[in-house]
Amino acid sequence: MSKFWSPFVKDLVPYVPGEQPKLSKLVKLNTNENPYGPSPKAIAAMQAEVNDNLRLYPDPNSDRLKQAVADYYGVQTNQVFVGNGSDEVLAHAFHGLFQHDAPLLFPDISYSFYPVYCGLYGIEQQQVPLDEQFQIRVEDYARPNAGIIFPNPNAPTGCLLPLDAIERLLQGSPDSVVLVDEAYIDFGGQTAIALVDKYPNLLVTQTLSKSRSLAGLRVGIAVGHPDLIEALERIKNSFNSYPLDRMAIAGAAAAFEDRDYFEKTCQQVIESREAVVAGLQGLGFEVLPSAANFVFARHPGKDAATLAAGLREQGVIVRHFKQQRIAQFLRITIGTPEQNQALLDALRGL
Ligand SMILES: *Cc1c(COP(=O)(O)O)cnc(C)c1O
Repeated sequence: MSKFWSPFVKDLVPYVPGEQPKLSKLVKLNTNENPYGPSPKAIAAMQAEVNDNLRLYPDPNSDRLKQAVADYYGVQTNQVFVGNGSDEVLAHAFHGLFQHDAPLLFPDISYSFYPVYCGLYGIEQQQVPLDEQFQIRVEDYARPNAGIIFPNPNAPTGCLLPLDAIERLLQGSPDSVVLVDEAYIDFGGQTAIALVDKYPNLLVTQTLSKSRSLAGLRVGIAVGHPDLIEALERIKNSFNSYPLDRMAIAGAAAAFEDRDYFEKTCQQVIESREAVVAGLQGLGFEVLPSAANFVFARHPGKDAATLAAGLREQGVIVRHFKQQRIAQFLRITIGTPEQNQALLDALRGL
């Protein structure tokens, strides 16, 4: 703390990202990155941008990327927003859409950035407990709110809420925005983007960090009614005119255009997930049903923190959360078949 700080800074509780270790030999299954690289076409598109044009600012509207997203999802470009990672897109949504005279609702077990943004923007929050099976109970959200946000599939549980339940949420709160954070939707869910023309209060965010394997590039998107997108644009243009650089715009657009590579690598992750679930169950773990590129598992007879530490000693890192309700779970990212085998082998000895 310093006298130079604006007073509110001392009360901020920042997000703590998963570890990015400097050692490279580790089997890194802790931050839900994709084990397969980005599309070769995306890499080529980024490399083609590394030239003398870098002296010029990028397109402030990222039109090329918005067009690629609009084409991919069959929507109009004025229904698309793009930002520097979906974390930034989410921040603008909290800032521009969730500051009203009621609490923002989200599940008690969900993405831990949500309470951080509430703190940053002074938004009142109400955490709604998941049910005993760690599922979202739609009825619990039928109360006055400034908005509703949840990841789908949920993080860190991996559990999917079907589209008909999302429609019930949208119908139950027609006067506030329902934000579906689809960071993991491509690993086994149906996107709610199919509903944006029907529900003007629906905003869907996605990231290129997980299913498109571009966590290092920092690109996220939002799709929704043009009025919602305009709020995000107004915030963005009051904050940073150029959140996406030239490489990011080109690489992200090419990643959306390369459907074959995307579908193939998603399918590989999904198949590996089924193998990891079977392997964990074989070792006595209970695994929540996952539609994501990670699984959330607990062992009835073994302490999760001890397991995480034991894995680490063997060079395998997974994510463990201290939050009481989930303190006995491990969140394990799906890796390559070799990495997954290394995980199961290491667990067998613990
Ligand atoms: C990874 C993740 C994000 C953030 O993605 P970035 O685009 O890398 O900022 C957002 N929401 C959830 C639930 C995530 O797991």
